Amino acid sequence: MLPSASDVRVTKETMRIYRSLEEELKTTLLKNYVALHIYPNHDSLKLIEPVIPDIEDAGVKVKVFDSKEAHEVTGLIYDEQEHVIYGEYEYLVSIRKIVGALHRKLNIIYGNASLRINNGNAYAIVGNEELTGDAVVLAAGGWNSKIAREAGIEVPLVTYGTRALAIIGSTRLNKYSISDYKYDYYTRPMGNLLDPIAFIAGDGNVKTSDLRQVRRLTNKSYSNWLIGLMKKRDPSMMISAIAGYSLVEMAYDYEPVIGKVPGVNNLYLIGGFDGYGAKLGPGLAFELARIIMGLNPSIDVSCYDINRFDGYEGQHDIDPHWEPVMLYLPAPNGASPCFYKNK
Ligand SMILES: Cc1cc2nc3c(=O)[nH]c(=O)nc-3n(C[C@H](O)[C@H](O)[C@H](O)COP(=O)(O)OP(=O)(O)OC[C@H]3O[C@@H](n4cnc5c(N)ncnc54)[C@H](O)[C@@H]3O)c2cc1C
Repeated sequence: MLPSASDVRVTKETMRIYRSLEEELKTTLLKNYVALHIYPNHDSLKLIEPVIPDIEDAGVKVKVFDSKEAHEVTGLIYDEQEHVIYGEYEYLVSIRKIVGALHRKLNIIYGNASLRINNGNAYAIVGNEELTGDAVVLAAGGWNSKIAREAGIEVPLVTYGTRALAIIGSTRLNKYSISDYKYDYYTRPMGNLLDPIAFIAGDGNVKTSDLRQVRRLTNKSYSNWLIGLMKKRDPSMMISAIAGYSLVEMAYDYEPVIGKVPGVNNLYLIGGFDGYGAKLGPGLAFELARIIMGLNPSIDVSCYDINRFDGYEGQHDIDPHWEPVMLYLPAPNGASPCFYKNK
């Protein structure tokens, strides 16, 4: 589920980009699975309802089940109050293939970069080299705010840690992409031959910008907690294997940010993708490229414009336990006016 009509539009744009990359690279990048979004009760479902027509307009067929119907279709266990949005389809994207292909095609300088602002111009420093250009784009995900701070500027983003595990087990959870808003975890199929015996599960965000701390917390007790939650849906045997974790970031109002950084002639920012990068990232990168070239965006991207933080007086903080897709829970900081819930 996406939290705003604008996010649905950008995701359509992203899908167009993935499809054209599939054609260009002559390979499959997208695999579809059924998505289950589990809501704790009917009231929470009501708050999600405005999203459904926009998603259907974008080509995703949706069914709404009560707990009994959902159990019959999926075999999972639900409390009586719960409701499920069953979406055909959600896509798994092979980001690794895309990044690999782009790295082969582009002239990449590998190294740890820092940012320098001198006389209102931005420079990237890699090793001993100072690089500049008509545009310098800060696109370092969970490291954006640190890099900006070290260059003496503030960007409206807060870093946090997020974690996921590979789960081994032949369960009814394997074949779905599940967002469980009652117990606060998600699952994703592996997208390969391991699907019958394994899947990915995650969530439980951590308020830190220290990657080592995220790694420390991706431990046995995290695994026990996550597996314990999933066993409420299917009590089958599950064990955790390889752990994944990283830093990600959210903007103060929980919508991504693109545009020219105020006060620096040639510095642009794209970030704040939270757990959405695969959906909104390529679409917004395409639009930012148009903006940098002096063209009009091809869709309305005003919800993401960095200028919305000019004169911003709200909190310079986020709660990483509240994610935009949790439309049914009150948003900290009021959140973006673009979100359905704030309309
Ligand atoms: C465990 C986990 C599960 C996730 N699941 C999903 C999901 O199911 N769906 C989804 O849409 N999103 C998911 N996400 C979120 C997604 O990964 C992010 O939204 C996305 O990666 C953000 O893209 P980005 O390009 O802004 O940043 P990133 O992908 O983080 O890219 C930033 C890059 O900049 C590099 N970098 C940082 N600092 C420097 C420096 N100083 N010099 C040079 N390079 C630097 C980093 O190494 C990194 O490669 C998940 C994230 C995690 C951690």
